[in-house]
Amino acid sequence: MIFSEVLGIKCHGCGKKIKFNTFLCESCIKKIKNPEVTYIGFNVYHYGKYTELLKELIIKYKFSGYEGLKKLFGNFLTESILNNTENINDFEITYIPSSEKSIRKKGFIPAKIIAEEISADLNIKLTEIFSSGAKKEQVKITSDKRETNVSGKFVLKNHIPKKLIIIDDVFTTGSSMKEAFRLLNSQCEVVGFTVAKA
Ligand SMILES: [Zn+2]
Repeated sequence: MIFSEVLGIKCHGCGKKIKFNTFLCESCIKKIKNPEVTYIGFNVYHYGKYTELLKELIIKYKFSGYEGLKKLFGNFLTESILNNTENINDFEITYIPSSEKSIRKKGFIPAKIIAEEISADLNIKLTEIFSSGAKKEQVKITSDKRETNVSGKFVLKNHIPKKLIIIDDVFTTGSSMKEAFRLLNSQCEVVGFTVAKA
């Protein structure tokens, strides 16, 4: 490719010259891709493992304010969604929120940015369903429900769609996904997707 030669675009993994507007070469993507699924009351699909290159890239993305990888992670999850979900147009998409402390520190919500990419790629509606403990939103919820919400990490901030895809960057213990699922209260079909599994 002329462009990559002129601009000297290199793979973030191995340094090999690559196509314009990509981050990794084919062989580095092949190394990262390691699909797995975890069942926690619903299926959560993972693109790869939280080790080596994928771990390095996620750390770069989440902790160095480097949003440039959003396209790559968006592409990974778009591929997973297409491989594992039927009738994607029936779904809405949402994400696991970051804590308020993390949002203040990073200035962005990593999972949200990835969900936005996927929403645009697949033309499915992004709905902000969960919020991390924002007191303002709790006021809108009836008092008996409020107690349940205060005890958890998140609150519901929107309607519950019939079918929902939940996005997160890294799946560790699954506690965030489980908490999100609990809040949905069996009112919709849920499927989760994460970039990596720790
Ligand atoms: Zn490479």
